[in-house]
Amino acid sequence: MPGIDPHTLVIVVSFQCLLISCVLAAMRASFPRTIGGIGQWAASMPLFVLASVVYSIPEAHPIVTVMLGNALFLSAMLLLNTSMLSFYEQRLPRWPRVAIFCAVIMAALAWLAFVHPSFILRLVMMSVVGTALFGYVAWLPFRYGNRSVGSVLTSVAFGWTSLICLLRVVLVLLDYDLPSELLDLSAFQVIYLTTFNVSLLIGSVGFILLINERLRFLLEYNASHDALTGILNRGAFFNGAKELFEASRRQAQPLSVALLDLDHFKQINDGYGHAAGDRVLKEFCLRVKSVLRSTDLLGRYGGEEFVLLLPGSTSEEALAIARRLKSAVAQEGDALPYTVSIGLATLSSGTGTLDELLVQADRALYQAKEKGRDRIEEWSGAQ
Ligand code: GH3
Ligand code: MG
Ligand code: MG
Repeated sequence: MPGIDPHTLVIVVSFQCLLISCVLAAMRASFPRTIGGIGQWAASMPLFVLASVVYSIPEAHPIVTVMLGNALFLSAMLLLNTSMLSFYEQRLPRWPRVAIFCAVIMAALAWLAFVHPSFILRLVMMSVVGTALFGYVAWLPFRYGNRSVGSVLTSVAFGWTSLICLLRVVLVLLDYDLPSELLDLSAFQVIYLTTFNVSLLIGSVGFILLINERLRFLLEYNASHDALTGILNRGAFFNGAKELFEASRRQAQPLSVALLDLDHFKQINDGYGHAAGDRVLKEFCLRVKSVLRSTDLLGRYGGEEFVLLLPGSTSEEALAIARRLKSAVAQEGDALPYTVSIGLATLSSGTGTLDELLVQADRALYQAKEKGRDRIEEWSGAQ
């Protein structure tokens, strides 16, 4: 292909891949450990570069070009797969299986280098392996990603590489393109080298975007969720609740709120310790969530108080939910036995703001405490 010198291209892209490796190593050092796969991707880049260097040593012994070059290339491809699997928190293949897979490929390469030398068969074999391994790297973000820019870019880049590897196999098998060595400048070789190098670069940029998307998700999640119970924190609850409240008012749809307060919680802390109290809070939230619909909003109001927004629920429906909730709490579980008091209020034509509705629910909760706890009270205008 005129105008493109594959050697220059390999050198330029190799340099960029090393740069990406440094960026990823810096990200690994400072990003949360819960984001997996960064280190493996960073390690794979120098291996790809080293493989390119080894492949292009002029007149080197086949032990170097064939065995060492392909071992490096294979390790780099496997590291990319490990990286993607770790990133999406998928189980890694057992290492004996990977070792057997590598041993079979290396044995076949040795056979095709020393016993029955054939560059074409080695090329076909490594291209088939490339089709499968790059295809898998492309498939993982497609399967587990959320169609974000990062996952689409990574999938497209490695999907393209996988296709080119496949095309390479087909063309060689059809005798259409028979290069005699790896950096042979046939038109398809140039297309292959260009595509492989550029898509490795674009795919790595895609992976960096994926990491940043995950980091952003983690930060947003931590900023909006309560660290102990995993439910919405007060700020995030009010952001969502205000929108639902306004929508219900506009559309004249029913809406109820419930304030939930664990009874004598201080005694649980004092009697069994703070850690036992924490376990009760966590278990309580799990039980509450088990009776909620996907449209309901649960938030930690503060301490051992929780707030529940029930869009679409009339006062009768809210009462039924509160009863279900109390019986879920009453069931025996891993945590200590405890009870909850619930105050309910329902949107009416006279309710001006969400805060007003919450004040009503708070008064109902106060009544529940006054009347002996472990009970549900509804706000009535008389309170
Ligand atoms: P009442 O039935 O009137 O609601 O009594 P109470 O003991 O539940 O209420 P009080 O407000 O006197 O005590 C609430 C306790 O909740 C005090 C506080 O130490 C405890 N608490 C608040 N947040 C947490 C937490 O995150 N973990 C634990 N273990 N305790 C908490
Ligand atoms: Mg309490
Ligand atoms: Mg309280």
